[in-house]
Amino acid sequence: IAESSTFPLKFELTPSQAARDEAEREVILADPGFGKHFTDHMVKIDWTIEDGWHDAEVIPYGPLMLDPSAAVLHYAQEIFEGLKAYRHADGSIWTFRPGKNAERLQRSARRLALPELATEDFIESLKQLVAVDGSWVPSAPETSLYIRPFMIANESFLGVRPSQRVAYYVIASPAGAYFHGGVAPVSIWLSTEYSRAGRGGTGAAKCGGNYAASLLPQQEAYENGCAQVLFLDGETGRHIDELGGMNIFFVHDGGTKLVTPRLTGTILEGITRDSIIQLAKDRGMTVQERDVTVEEWRQGVADGSITEVFACGTAAVITPISALKSVDGVIGDENAPAGELTMSIRQELTDIQYGRVADRHGWLTRL
Ligand code: PMP
Repeated sequence: IAESSTFPLKFELTPSQAARDEAEREVILADPGFGKHFTDHMVKIDWTIEDGWHDAEVIPYGPLMLDPSAAVLHYAQEIFEGLKAYRHADGSIWTFRPGKNAERLQRSARRLALPELATEDFIESLKQLVAVDGSWVPSAPETSLYIRPFMIANESFLGVRPSQRVAYYVIASPAGAYFHGGVAPVSIWLSTEYSRAGRGGTGAAKCGGNYAASLLPQQEAYENGCAQVLFLDGETGRHIDELGGMNIFFVHDGGTKLVTPRLTGTILEGITRDSIIQLAKDRGMTVQERDVTVEEWRQGVADGSITEVFACGTAAVITPISALKSVDGVIGDENAPAGELTMSIRQELTDIQYGRVADRHGWLTRL
């Protein structure tokens, strides 16, 4: 890890002169939606090849000054993370497995030739932002403050090589309950024309370019009445990789076995995925990380061995999948209700995140 010149970093605060008052904030928190409203401050840390990480600051939320020749605008040298802050019943604010996000950001940084930020500095950056903007963490059930750390190449230079100037930011956005009126199963669209990632590509990195490439197939999903797009592996086109922004699980054998695609280097290593695997093992379930084909899905639904399918990720936690649609037809029943095991694991995970049960794995960090 390219250590900061002064590790751990010390943050300087410049309070916002335009911070919204409590009344304005309450209006937003009453119906925040997702990714629309942002808190009053943001974190910024600069990096240069000469000085490493320096000038860690909490500053008013606002537009960035970027030269039009900044590398990120041309070659997409950019990575990001996504995690949430949860308000517990006693008012305290916690986040879930932030060390895992820090490590994933470090892996993404290596793949995108960006500098790594130490885990301690990453976690401190979250604490610093929540220390000034904690009142933006909503308290209604299933709400949270979505935290978006990201890193961009901001050197003014059009040559194609790793940027020698980089900035890391953290912004935060209050998030409402993902599902209003109960968790709704969704249909997903199988993209047979487009791939998300290829062998040796950036599939396992959380970089903006992956999402840019997923927008067209995602649009195709919407046009076919589906909430998300499912991608197959780019190499053989036979195995299921993941959704545009979530990992996928199959419940087998009457709820005793969980199957999910193995991490091949083309799949994002979801932290929700990893946590669900642990919770299922705790329950004594068999968990298999292996190749899964669409044909297995079709046959499993037909012979009753696959009883539930669900997607998982930080934003929606767990989303039941009722059906897979494609140009070849439909697998599953679009009107099927949410599965029992799906909902029980979802409940268990959110109970841990919101502090309603003991945090037996030590997954929570106080912000
Ligand atoms: N896959 C992709 C492509 C994603 O964007 C996400 C969301 N970060 C996930 C899976 C789920 O990851 P996590 O559980 O860490 O949110």
